[in-house]
Amino acid sequence: MGIKVVKFGGSSLADAEHFRRVAAIVKADPNRRYVVASAPGKRYSEDVKVTDMLYRCYEMVRNREDITEYYAQICERYNSIIRDLGLNFDITGELEYIRNGITHHSGRDFAASRGEYLNSLILAKLLGFGFIDAESVVYFREDGTFDGEKTNEEMKKELQRFEYAVIPGFYGVMPNGTIKTFSRGGSDITGSIVARAAEAELYENWTDVSGFLMADPRIVQDPQPIKEVTYRELRELSYMGASVLHEDAIFPVRYAGIPINIRNTNEPEAPGTMIVSATNGYDTDKIITGVAGKKGLSVITIEKDMMNAEIGFGRRVLEVLEDHDISFEHLPSGVDTMSVVVSTAGVDAVRERVINAINRSVRPDSVVIEDGLALLAVVGRGMVKAKGTAARVFDAISGADVNIRMIDQGSSELNIIVGIEEHDFEKAMNAIYREFVKA
Ligand code: ASP
Repeated sequence: MGIKVVKFGGSSLADAEHFRRVAAIVKADPNRRYVVASAPGKRYSEDVKVTDMLYRCYEMVRNREDITEYYAQICERYNSIIRDLGLNFDITGELEYIRNGITHHSGRDFAASRGEYLNSLILAKLLGFGFIDAESVVYFREDGTFDGEKTNEEMKKELQRFEYAVIPGFYGVMPNGTIKTFSRGGSDITGSIVARAAEAELYENWTDVSGFLMADPRIVQDPQPIKEVTYRELRELSYMGASVLHEDAIFPVRYAGIPINIRNTNEPEAPGTMIVSATNGYDTDKIITGVAGKKGLSVITIEKDMMNAEIGFGRRVLEVLEDHDISFEHLPSGVDTMSVVVSTAGVDAVRERVINAINRSVRPDSVVIEDGLALLAVVGRGMVKAKGTAARVFDAISGADVNIRMIDQGSSELNIIVGIEEHDFEKAMNAIYREFVKA
């Protein structure tokens, strides 16, 4: 059996009880050799994540407020974990050093990163594992982008020195030695980086849900978990709003062909979701892998007679968007109409300017921007082989009395995207789910 890299999210390391569960999971399999840890997350719904508390300390220092009392709460979170675990471990010196760093302007990212640093020290102590500071193995370039190759080289060397180790997630180091973090949720990325460097057989990502669900549980009641999903399907689903894993976490392991297994710390027997690069199999009684979607979209519709014969028309429209810093989501087009789907938030402030610029640039017969659009993506590798999937999607939507405003099927046939009115979003998602998943 090969190496397994395991990453535990903040909710899996929020208190001593969770630390114990994590230790039991790690110790249950000697192949779980490298552990990546997040900072303590919420213990209950109104609780505050330690990362957010650290950001707040940083802001307080900037506003010249005294952080003594607030910082004491952070210290207590860690000390109570150590105490409740019965560990003989004193982190007073570390806590003091960090408080000094924050008050002496070591930077926002330095402050935030200490959440994973301290949690990893404690976890390493509990497990009896070595500790590899991310600062010595995760590198960013001068321009702030992640340096994957240098990181992979250095990480490989360091991992070889340890049979078992804990590595803090979320941060790395800039060429000038200062700490830099990934974006929020970035410990997933660290886990993926470690898995690649360790040439792991599997990257287990432990969180507080039993994998990806076929639909958003806030909209569809008790959606079934997805057993297996390909990276490409996952990309489609996450783009549409399904989130469990940081998007950038996919690249290092995908590159190395390492599967990711999303698992639930509170339900360790559940198999979770396997994310794989390719698979021929699919659930024949389901056809679809999942349905996801997003609201808050606008359509810019441009009409012009004989548009199809005018070379450079599309390019000029897209140039206007580029000039206004707007990225487009979809581009469904007809013979004499071009529609561009963009996020309402992105176009809102520059609405009039965009319309005027398009008028000047391509002299259309009309150009309008309509808000209130939602997109739903029905995703599934099984769709290529199953006849009539599109018909079933459209029937389900019309059966729910929802009007379809736009249709887009990627040539990969991995998904069908439909545009609907925002207020029909929940109704349509439920109708599609019920059509493909029988209760
Ligand atoms: N602790 C960081 C956050 O809250 C990173 C992570 O948990 O992955 O975003």
